[in-house]
Amino acid sequence: MYSLPDLEPIRDFDAIAVLTSGGDSPGMNPAVRGVVRAALNSAMQVYGVQKGYSGLVAGDLRKMTSSSVRNIVQRGGTILKSDRCEAFKDPGIRQKAAANLKAAGVGALIVIGGDGSLTGAHLLAEESDIVVIGLPGTIDNDIFGTEDTIGFDTAVNTALDAIDKIRDTASSHERYFLVEVMGRNSGFLATHVGIAAGAEMVVVPEYQVDTEELGRHLSENRRTGKSASGIIVVAEGREPGLTYRLAQQLQRQGEDPRVCILGHIQRGGQPSGHDRVLASELGAMAVSYLLAGYNDIMVGVAEGAIVDIPLDSVIRYRKGLDPQLFQLALLLHR
Ligand code: ADP
Repeated sequence: MYSLPDLEPIRDFDAIAVLTSGGDSPGMNPAVRGVVRAALNSAMQVYGVQKGYSGLVAGDLRKMTSSSVRNIVQRGGTILKSDRCEAFKDPGIRQKAAANLKAAGVGALIVIGGDGSLTGAHLLAEESDIVVIGLPGTIDNDIFGTEDTIGFDTAVNTALDAIDKIRDTASSHERYFLVEVMGRNSGFLATHVGIAAGAEMVVVPEYQVDTEELGRHLSENRRTGKSASGIIVVAEGREPGLTYRLAQQLQRQGEDPRVCILGHIQRGGQPSGHDRVLASELGAMAVSYLLAGYNDIMVGVAEGAIVDIPLDSVIRYRKGLDPQLFQLALLLHR
């Protein structure tokens, strides 16, 4: 599926650790499995850090064996648990975390998470002699330097499952439904879901939406008999309540839309086949990269190949929504 780089091992590690952090995403488990099995195959010990950076600070490291990751490839969530740890933003606390790893004889850490988690990973790599490799684990697919993230494909499919059902009701009642998907700062999920669901409109944080024009368009569809029902996919955006405000605006223009917030169901569930393969490859390759002497990088995907990107760049730059893909989402419903 992906082309893998040929990496010669040049370093020895006795022990490494792996953690999952921030918002969980389907596929974190196969990624953990990939890390653990690849490390054991290279004769290293592996520790699973419980609850992300909170467990690292508390020194909650548990030794993992091959059977620790048996029967998890198909499970959503993360067996290592995840957490948000404000304290990790403090350099003194990060020193404590590095000392906990050292005390357990661990020389390298693999962090699976979103941009916040990867920021913490970069700082730890910069400020300590722990080797740190990041993996992009988020349903948002908004991480710079990688075309794909662990969990994105599953989240798209979960949203589509829900929308296919909502469309039945929309059609029976001749109504428009505003379906809110996750995406505070990015419209990747909304755009992909919008195209795949055949949505009438996609609203994303990256582009201004003319709600009056949207209302006129829906009313015109109803008046001309083109369609009396449909789906508008809305990325949640930065300000809570956006989708309800949009519905009110459409109500003022004579429509009677319903709102459905998909919320956390998008983060759970069995990882798709695509995400299982992606996560397994990234997990195993993270181990290869650290054995090949890499540090302070994220392992991601570019043009179908597994690649490394400096964590510094990953957190400094913003991944932009492909304008052509967004235009396609708007074009196809006309
Ligand atoms: P995600 O990784 O899904 O983007 P968050 O943004 O909540 O999720 O970040 C997860 C965790 O990463 C935070 O709770 C914190 O422990 C760590 N983190 C986030 N930002 C920073 C930062 N600027 N410095 C150090 N650690 C950070």
